Parts: sequence; structure tokens; C-alpha cells
Amino acid sequence: ITILAVETSCDETAVSIVRNGRDVLSNSVNSQIESHQRFGGVVPEVASRHHVENITMVIEDALKEAQLTMEEIDAVAVTEGPGLIGALLVGINAAKALAISHNKPLIPVHHIAGHIYANHIVAPLKFPLLALIVSGGHTELVVMRDHLNFEVIGETRDDAVGEAYDKVARTIDLPYPGGPLVDRLAAEGKDTLNFPRPVLEGYDFSFSGLKSAVINTLHNKKQKGETVKPEDVAASFQASVVDVLSKKTFEALEAYDIKELIVCGGVAANSGLRKRLTAEAAAHHVELHIPPLNLCTDNAAMIGAAAYFLYRQQHFADYSLNGRSSLDL
Ligand code: ATP
Ligand code: MG
Ligand code: FE
Repeated sequence: ITILAVETSCDETAVSIVRNGRDVLSNSVNSQIESHQRFGGVVPEVASRHHVENITMVIEDALKEAQLTMEEIDAVAVTEGPGLIGALLVGINAAKALAISHNKPLIPVHHIAGHIYANHIVAPLKFPLLALIVSGGHTELVVMRDHLNFEVIGETRDDAVGEAYDKVARTIDLPYPGGPLVDRLAAEGKDTLNFPRPVLEGYDFSFSGLKSAVINTLHNKKQKGETVKPEDVAASFQASVVDVLSKKTFEALEAYDIKELIVCGGVAANSGLRKRLTAEAAAHHVELHIPPLNLCTDNAAMIGAAAYFLYRQQHFADYSLNGRSSLDL
């Protein structure tokens, strides 16, 4: 089964062709980061306009790279939500037009299910598993006992980790998206600032207090005329984030008696987190999978991977499919 998948939930216009949920025949991503950088974040209206400009070209690229025509495609998949509504609608409309004109089924995919299924491309998912989702808008722990079976056992009550990274980056004058830059800077600094390790009951997360602690610490030091090295701010913030994520994840693995851990979303690219989870997984005899960096951040291959399992369940949308800015997994 060969699926053409479209992803436009945020600021990358992405199209991929995936065979049988694992074989990525092409994976085209057109990133808009540069256009949003001068605003310090993604501007929804600007994102939508770029998607409209680029989507046709990215679809053509994906087909060309895979050396396929639409006749050889079995279904068209598209991210239904969650995400920026205007951005989603561009991808949905393009996917609909393709599906209608070539008489193919249309498969609606949840963006976070996509992030999870990025792991299936690397190694087939083995159940039961625990998924740690750490992205720009989500921080969740999800138990899966079978394909497309998602039990959310914990989530953030305020900021997502990626969001906290981007805000901390801004306070130390790093451009958007600051996550990767904070990560790089953290490697050169020390955990000297003793930021809080916010842990809630159960498996929920909260990162807004940590973010405020970083901002307040910098503010107080500045008022006292003291200087702080940005690399120490980055290292201290990252140490706190990694501690909290790792602690909750391994508590959940133990409580649910699960030996399979997958990590996904943009922050899964974080070197500190990857290192810590790798060490803990070895110590706890847990099998750990983290996708390569290009499958951690937004892409359409992950949507094509998830769509394969939806195709097998004949989970198709009719042509009235709409975008949904928020959508439960
Ligand atoms: P969502 O998937 O929740 O809708 P999103 O699609 O915007 O949100 P992703 O594309 O999955 O999020 O991830 C982007 C986020 O990942 C950004 O906040 C970015 O700063 C962060 N990020 C990327 N690389 C790193 C890194 N190495 N360290 C920390 N954060 C990172
Ligand atoms: Mg993005
Ligand atoms: Fe995402």
C-alpha cells in the first residue's frame, strides 16, 4: 500500500510517499523558519500564505523523488489536527483535491499519532509500549497496547517543553526556534543555578514555573549588577527539564510494567535528553527508540506511517473533512 501524505499543521510544508507504513520513498520538507524568525515565532497568517505558495511544488517534488505518478498511489493522507487552523486547511484542501481528482480514499491523521509513528519507520512498534511525546505544543506520556490504541496517562498542564525551550531562548537573546541553540549552548555550561524540578502528582507535567524561574533569576541578577553566563542558564534549564522528563518516564514504565520506550517530537532531538534516556534505559533494561533528527521535527513521512494503519482499518474521511485546531489523540 503506497500512501501520499501531506502535513501542514505549523510552519513546514511537508509531503511524503510511504509504502506499507515503513518504506519512505520520498520525504520533502519546505521549512518557513526564516520567514518567522524576524517575528520571534510562528505567525499563523504568514504560515498559511507560505503553505499556499509551496504546497503544489512540494507535492510535485515528492512524486518526482519517489518516481511515481498519482495512478500508483493507493490513498492520500493528511494531518487533520491539532495545529494552526489556517495552516491545516491548506494541506487538507490540497489532499482533498488530489484524492477527488484521482479517485483515492482520503485518510485523516492526528498530528501527534504521526509523531509517534515516526518511530515505526525506524523500527516496527512493539507492544505494550510507552511513548514520551515532547514537541513544540505537546508534552505527553502515552501507553499503547496495540496499533492506534492511545491511552494518555500524563500531559502538561501549562507549557509544552518545546515552548519552554523557545521562551528561555528568547530571554537569552537567541533567535527562533531557540530549542536547538539552547541545547548546543547547554553543552558548554554548568548546572549552577539550581532551578526547580517541577514534579506533579501522577504523570502530569508543568513547565511554566520553571520558565518563570529562569526569567526571574536573570532579572534579579541583572538588577544586582551580577552577570550570568548564558551557557550556564542553558545548562541549568536543560538539567531541570531532563531530570523531570526522565524521572516521570521511568516511573511510568515501572508502574505499567512496560519495557519498550519510544520518544518523539521536536525536543526528542535534544542531545541532553537523548543521552540521559539512553543511560537510564540501559540501567532499567528498557528498550529505547528515538528517531533520527529529521523524523523528530515535523515531516510527512510520520503521517504516512500512521496512515497505513488507518488504511488497514478503512478509516477514511469523506470529502467534507475539515481541519481541527485542537483534537484528542
Ligand atoms: P506539535 O507537534 O506539538 O504540534 P510542533 O509541531 O511545533 O508542535 P515540533 O516540530 O515537533 O513541534 O518541534 C518543534 C520544537 O522542538 C520547537 O519548540 C523547537 O525549539 C524544539 N526543538 C528542536 N530541536 C531541539 C533540541 N535539540 N533541543 C530542544 N528543543 C528542540
Ligand atoms: Mg515546526
Ligand atoms: Fe509537531
